[in-house]
Amino acid sequence: MTSSPPTALITGVSGQDGMYLARRLMAEGWRVVGTVRPGLSSIARMGPYLTGVQVVDHDLLDTTGFGDLLSRFSPRAVYNLAAFSAVGASWSDPELVARTNLVAVAEMLETLLRHRDKNSSDVRFFQASSAEVFGSRVQGALDEETPHRPRTPYAVAKSAAHHLVISYREHHDLFACNGILFNHESPFRGHQFVAGRIARAAATAACGGRAPVALGDLDVERDWGAAVDHVEAMRLSLAHDRPGDYVIATGTTHTLRDMLDAAFASVGRDDAEDHVEMMPHLWSATQADSLCGDPGRARRELGWSATTSFEDLIATMVAVDVRRITTGVAESESYLS
Ligand code: NDP
Repeated sequence: MTSSPPTALITGVSGQDGMYLARRLMAEGWRVVGTVRPGLSSIARMGPYLTGVQVVDHDLLDTTGFGDLLSRFSPRAVYNLAAFSAVGASWSDPELVARTNLVAVAEMLETLLRHRDKNSSDVRFFQASSAEVFGSRVQGALDEETPHRPRTPYAVAKSAAHHLVISYREHHDLFACNGILFNHESPFRGHQFVAGRIARAAATAACGGRAPVALGDLDVERDWGAAVDHVEAMRLSLAHDRPGDYVIATGTTHTLRDMLDAAFASVGRDDAEDHVEMMPHLWSATQADSLCGDPGRARRELGWSATTSFEDLIATMVAVDVRRITTGVAESESYLS
């Protein structure tokens, strides 16, 4: 008799990470149920990449719906990736950000407890925390013990959710992990984020056009990794024999100038800064000049490290945008290879 595969529930499956994680888990033999926001969802855009995923509607703001999902699908693992994920835009509606990125997590943790008590079944829980929790005045490589000094509505909510996860793990013995995610990108993250905008500018230039990218400060440094690598650390966090919190980062930084140069160099150009419009107001004092993660714990305990180079990541993003521009096809599963 063959046993049925374990089920993983991913919130935000039509986001960048949800898509990559779903594909990774299915390759490992999991059945994946993924939630999308009703009505507004990016599922129409990401559909080509989600073959095999059972997609269901669920709004994080519907605090009772999560219990129904647990009863209906009996997942062995839940990855909470859905979020109000744009840091700068979080100033536009702090209350919505708090409800989406904090209150919904509190409800999930409480519901998981009730589910455990009722069904005697432990469901493992992964929370997408963020390097933004460390705030703006940081130095050196940041690890799991670095204090939080959140300075945006996004970071405040993510930090509080992070501490709730630890509280439920320590107080209720829930198998719950935080992945402290540093920036990670792919051709599928959406062009509102800076790496996507730079990739699009380079691809447009490569195709003979011009689409200048507005940037606030070229010297800002981030620890940029590849989404395809970071979701593997998420998977390993819940596959480990005990729960914990992990910095998920490459351990190296690059500036926005490096990113521009890498993007334009990947299409044989050295005129990157001619395609930039400097707009200093885009930079905010609540953002860090530099954010670098120390992924030592993830390496030691999970055996994980990032494998995609910065240059390869940026070149892939530009190459996919060139294909989008030249074919007129916005999304295609072939863009994954
Ligand atoms: P995306 O923005 O690509 O995906 C977020 C998903 O959440 C989207 O599919 C969005 O749906 C969904 N969502 C937003 N609001 C709701 C809601 N009310 N109900 C249901 N779904 C909702 O983010 P990423 O995949 O890049 O990131 C995954 C997680 O990792 C997020 O929690 C993010 O905050 C965190 N993170 C990401 C980093 C990065 O560099 N990518 C860095 C640090 C943390 P819709 O498409 O409908 O808006």
